[in-house]
Amino acid sequence: MQCRALTPARVLRFLQPNGMATMTQNPSILTINNIEVIYDHVILVLKGVSLSVPRGKIVALMGANGAGKSTTLKSISTLLRGERGDVTKGSIEFNGERIDQLTPNELVRRGLSQVMEGRHCFGHLTIEENLLTGAYTRKISRSELKSELERVYHYFPRLKLRRTSMAGYTSGGEQQMCAIGRALMAKPSMILLDEPSMGLAPQIVEEIFGIVQDLNKTEQVSFLLAEQNTTISRSGLE
Ligand code: ATP
Repeated sequence: MQCRALTPARVLRFLQPNGMATMTQNPSILTINNIEVIYDHVILVLKGVSLSVPRGKIVALMGANGAGKSTTLKSISTLLRGERGDVTKGSIEFNGERIDQLTPNELVRRGLSQVMEGRHCFGHLTIEENLLTGAYTRKISRSELKSELERVYHYFPRLKLRRTSMAGYTSGGEQQMCAIGRALMAKPSMILLDEPSMGLAPQIVEEIFGIVQDLNKTEQVSFLLAEQNTTISRSGLE
């Protein structure tokens, strides 16, 4: 598994031999220090994984099928526990705070959201209803909710056109946009994005990655992106 910063090369150090990330310019928004992950108390999947994501940057985690990318992301979002997985060694910090013992909803409230592999949109809800579920953790007024929706539609104009369609009847690309848009509704400072290119046509992948870059530049949302499509990861975002 490889880890790479994809925004214009500034200063990023990762996978330091001692497991400590060294930042000379940007303080890290996320630091994983030497973690070990075990499923079902016996299946060792990750050992000695360390990386850091500088604030306001996009970092890609690249690797083949089964390399452990999704497991790394789920370790951060703590969704791992739902699959009988445990972080048995090491530590994970978000904004300087240890988060290994927090729940996924506490993490969303702190500004860390995950877009899971396979989108997981609610197929029987409309695109707009799916987006609204993303704001569930926020206590905001109706008018603020409306402006948050408009903010998402600004980045994903296709979603505005499809807002009354049932998500289950939309294309894979639209569902991926919906999943990212739903995460945006929680106003995250960082998004964990798992295999956004999976099963999508190259033009759609390009469009989605363009939007990710735009979000990163305009709103300084940091991204940790898991991809096996190294061509996209290496060139698509630079
Ligand atoms: P993919 O691109 O296929 O999603 P990945 O790099 O994201 O691959 P993971 O899904 O993290 O890899 O899987 C890493 C390893 O952990 C694989 O060998 C997989 O079989 C194993 N694994 C994943 N989930 C579980 C689970 N719930 N229980 C046991 N083993 C698991």
